[in-house]
Amino acid sequence: MSTTEKHHFQAEIQQLLDIVIHSIYTDREIFVRELISNAADACEKLRFLQSSGQAVYQPEIKSGITVKTDDKAGTVTITDTGVGMTHADLVENLGTIAHSGTKAFLKQLAENQKPDARLIGQFGVGFYSAFMVASKVTVLSRSHTPEEQGWRWTSENAGGYEIEPAADLPRGTQIILQLKDDAKDFTQEDTLKRVVQRYSSFIQFPIELNGTHLNTIQAIWGRSKNEITDAEYNSFYQYVAHDHEDPLLRLHFTADAPLAIQALLFVPQKNWENLGMGRMETGVNLYCKKVLIQDHAKNLFPDWLRFLRGVVDSEDLPLNISRETMQDSALLKKLNTVLTGRFLKFLDETAGKDAAAYEKFYAEYSRCLKEGVATDFTHREALGKLLRYESSATEKGKLTSLAEYVKRMPADQKEIFYLQAPNRETAESSPYYEVFQSRGYEVLFLYDGWDEFVMEHLHQFEEKPLRAAEKAELDITPPAAKEGELSDSEAEALAKWLKEKLANQVGAVRVSKRLVNSPAVVVESDRHLTSSMKRMLKTLQKDKADQLEDKLDLELNPRHPVIVRLNKIRQSDEPLAAKVAEQVHDNARVAAGLLDDPRLMLKRLNELLEQVLTAKG
Ligand code: ADP
Ligand code: MG
Repeated sequence: MSTTEKHHFQAEIQQLLDIVIHSIYTDREIFVRELISNAADACEKLRFLQSSGQAVYQPEIKSGITVKTDDKAGTVTITDTGVGMTHADLVENLGTIAHSGTKAFLKQLAENQKPDARLIGQFGVGFYSAFMVASKVTVLSRSHTPEEQGWRWTSENAGGYEIEPAADLPRGTQIILQLKDDAKDFTQEDTLKRVVQRYSSFIQFPIELNGTHLNTIQAIWGRSKNEITDAEYNSFYQYVAHDHEDPLLRLHFTADAPLAIQALLFVPQKNWENLGMGRMETGVNLYCKKVLIQDHAKNLFPDWLRFLRGVVDSEDLPLNISRETMQDSALLKKLNTVLTGRFLKFLDETAGKDAAAYEKFYAEYSRCLKEGVATDFTHREALGKLLRYESSATEKGKLTSLAEYVKRMPADQKEIFYLQAPNRETAESSPYYEVFQSRGYEVLFLYDGWDEFVMEHLHQFEEKPLRAAEKAELDITPPAAKEGELSDSEAEALAKWLKEKLANQVGAVRVSKRLVNSPAVVVESDRHLTSSMKRMLKTLQKDKADQLEDKLDLELNPRHPVIVRLNKIRQSDEPLAAKVAEQVHDNARVAAGLLDDPRLMLKRLNELLEQVLTAKG
């Protein structure tokens, strides 16, 4: 009498298997990941039972996983010494929907023209991935429960399955895959080795392939920090980052709330983007209980942290969540927010503890932080703390934080001021800087073309508004009136005259309250632009450059000798005065970096020189 029982798969499982068998041709290698992760789960469960004092069958057998390839027979066999399955387990786990997600998975699969094999593990149906590559699947299993017996589960071409007793099985499960003709490559040891190492390098149970122990890398992120040496950390870094240098910074942390996270993150010494290597790819791998879910996981960190390397392990993630579903997973968003916040906090702490390391980091990666300020509202405040600039209060080459700036602010200063300039010398001699110097207000000097946009986005820091020096509404403390200084009415009249002379070239002409040493300055009448932003716009939109030109206002310094004399000669020698007026205007534009072609003014300048020399001669 035959003891073989024939079973049908549950309708949904059958439907799933039909798709798996007939429609999936790519990424089939993930069956290795699925079966090894099941084997590791089984070993993990056994370890748990043993550690909680339960008697198990064959306690002397150590936990482990072996993989065998046989190219003559065309088989791959994966064996574990884990908990094993009873008859009831086999029927329940390998024949019915044990997981509510199967329907959703089927819907996903059916909707896609090319079903994505990577999805398969996500809904708790990873075992069935075996049918992507195998025409016949045999499962030999002996439960850990001492009074149980062994069973053979077989399914050919997924048309139902059979179960029969199997004598003399050791504890655990063995899965034998009879490979389809087009999947025979998986009997090659090299192929299988590559796949196992790709997905299962950090499985905490030993894995053997054809009798050779595969050098699994220890999942050091799960160990406690004080047990791990720098050398171990560094070699792990070199492994995950494919780098030959040691990392610049390292963060190893564990959190339980709001999510269970173990993370080991590294910052490489070099930002390859600065070396013109093109845009970097994200480089943090996502694990769930030491099983790889996704390498170079997208959306695990914001794009501006793409330089990070390392590992994040969260047991709160469903195992084998797919790339596609990851993208809009609320869980992933939460993980992203928590991880990013933690990393930024780490950077801030590093800046406090190890200034030299932070300086080095900032020199390499400041652009990434700035990108963050401009694109990431959630972390803007934390990012603001990390910015560093030269300022009028620092020495050349030394950087200050906004927090330090705020601490130095005198009581009457309400805003944080910044000035974009190509370098320190230009900043210090800028007419826009004069009023700050006269009032003793610190000004941040911004040398990177992006900085002004960054400041616009940051908008405020510690509740202090950030203000471009050009836009500051500040009056200098008026110095004692000088002899010859223009009276208010004289100055107004001169402004009016200048507006007539420079009609097409300027917007309004005003008397300035912010100039000390410069005769005049050009100012954007558009309150949203500064001259350096305008410079940027001009290069970006060449065709609109003329329109942008129209908006410049001119401000006069009524105390400056050039302005005082100009007012005098406009009555006696108007043609000369007109020439000087144009030159004053051009000079102001030079100071703002807005004169496109200085050669055009050379002719006038030479005429003026000639006149000066003639007068003297
Ligand atoms: P999941 O692993 O997400 O539960 P799978 O389809 O991969 O889904 O596996 C279904 C179930 O089959 C597992 O939950 C487990 O109970 C059982 N199983 C699969 N492989 C093994 C194994 N090697 N040892 C013991 N049980 C297993
Ligand atoms: Mg599984």
